[in-house]
Amino acid sequence: MANKQKFQAIKGTRDLLPPETELWNRVEQTAREVFGTFGFGEIRPPIFEPTELFARAIGAETDVVAKEMYTFEDHDLPDLAYARSDLKMRNPSVDNLPGIEAYRDRLGDLYAALERAFHAGAVPRTPENRHAITRLGDLSVALGDPSLRSELQGLSHDVRSALEQVKLGDVVTLRPEATASVCRAYIEHNMHALTQPVKLYYTGPMFRRERPQKGRYRQFYQIGAEVLEALQQGQGGAKDIPKDAAIDAEVIEMVMVFFGRLELQGVQLEINSIGDRNCRPQYVELLRAELLKVKDKLGADSQRRIETNPLRVLDSKLESEQEIIAGLPRIGDHLCADCAKHYAEVKRQLGLRGVAYKENWRLVRGLDYYMRTTFEIAAQGLGSQNAVCGGGRYDGLVELLGGPPTKGIGFAIGEDRLILSLQEAGKGGGAQGRDVYIAWMGEKAQATAIAAARTLRNAGFRVELPPVEQKFGKALGQADKLGSRYALILGEDEVASGQWTLKTLADGSQAKYTEAALLEFLKKPCSSPLQG
Ligand code: AMP
Repeated sequence: MANKQKFQAIKGTRDLLPPETELWNRVEQTAREVFGTFGFGEIRPPIFEPTELFARAIGAETDVVAKEMYTFEDHDLPDLAYARSDLKMRNPSVDNLPGIEAYRDRLGDLYAALERAFHAGAVPRTPENRHAITRLGDLSVALGDPSLRSELQGLSHDVRSALEQVKLGDVVTLRPEATASVCRAYIEHNMHALTQPVKLYYTGPMFRRERPQKGRYRQFYQIGAEVLEALQQGQGGAKDIPKDAAIDAEVIEMVMVFFGRLELQGVQLEINSIGDRNCRPQYVELLRAELLKVKDKLGADSQRRIETNPLRVLDSKLESEQEIIAGLPRIGDHLCADCAKHYAEVKRQLGLRGVAYKENWRLVRGLDYYMRTTFEIAAQGLGSQNAVCGGGRYDGLVELLGGPPTKGIGFAIGEDRLILSLQEAGKGGGAQGRDVYIAWMGEKAQATAIAAARTLRNAGFRVELPPVEQKFGKALGQADKLGSRYALILGEDEVASGQWTLKTLADGSQAKYTEAALLEFLKKPCSSPLQG
């Protein structure tokens, strides 16, 4: 019997379908155009990268890295993987001597196979693997020692934890964001040797295992850009502040121009400075001390964050915490002189560009790498997930990933939310339907219809050519359903005379044209609004 299983898209992922995909294309095309006018070029990094890249760049303590990444071991060793997971599930009992021996045999076999694979380079030759495999060998010996039988529980526990540490292949992650990849590529391709700054943009899917809801998905799309600038000899320090601030402001201006071009509604830009490594640590300590005083009044998440990342407490949306947060010390009062100057200059530069903003001292970002400028942009119609763009400055990230001292500023726009907001505001309509539906009748007309379709399509018109002959009434009905503007009627008369009939579906009017005259007519802007 046929398998009746129905497959569905995985939770948190979805199919983007026509006609909505027209809007997606329009949005991406507009991004390319606008970013191009600001001198940005496109980068297309891979969708998976070493897990370590994200752990290092984003921060191991962040929610994204700690809880939300799709990570897997990339290997070609199914037998070893099976033996490893099989052994992990076994729990030998002290009363079952043959069971212990079988367990030890399996462990011995796996250990020997791992040793061989390690020497052959089939599993990563990392110190961690070396250590874990040696440990498995030692444990296999210990399990054969009758005097250690009483410690069986502890030994099998140690076996499990050593097995956890053995990596059969590189550990890779589906990218949860792209800034780390762009920085990795900047280093890998020696982009510091190009004219600085290097301006790159990207579009594509990102993956985070979040709780799905409106505007929050596990596979979502971002449009982002980064400006990277390796420090030249003698550069850096306070004298760069005006330049850095102008770059920050221009990047923000670019997003606002993009949103303006799309006619995104209710756009609200919020900015903040979160200091740098000179002043932020002191502020974070001060914040931690103040939060500890009110710990009992905070929710579980915030209590945990006092230790892991006190800045994130400022992000809290919990009603009961709002009054407490309002009384906490503000970063703006604790910026060092350079950060304060930089922040003032960013605001002045935004003013020069006519970019309206609101300051929000509680704006911190969920990723660790930001410093000084941070910003977020909200749009209407999105409910609680109303941030469509987040960004900020991240000097030092490239260096942290092993590159030369480099400054960086960038942003990521949540494309799913951008699209939702455009749709909610009625700005989601794209060109749909067809320009011309070719209603052909009679065997002789088919060749002419095929040729006409080719000519019209080459000229850029959207053409529907029915695969088989249809009755006139049915053809017109079909043309209407597809949202066609015109029906080109090709019957035997038209083919014989070379005078084709064009029917305007909106008003039913008809006129005759030769092929050349028809093209001429359709190309006139008033007759072809779908062109553009
Ligand atoms: P982030 O990379 O966390 O700074 O996020 C930048 C933007 O990406 C946010 O402002 C959102 O618009 C969007 N975004 C982040 N996570 C998700 C998600 N799970 N689903 C949809 N959009 C997201």
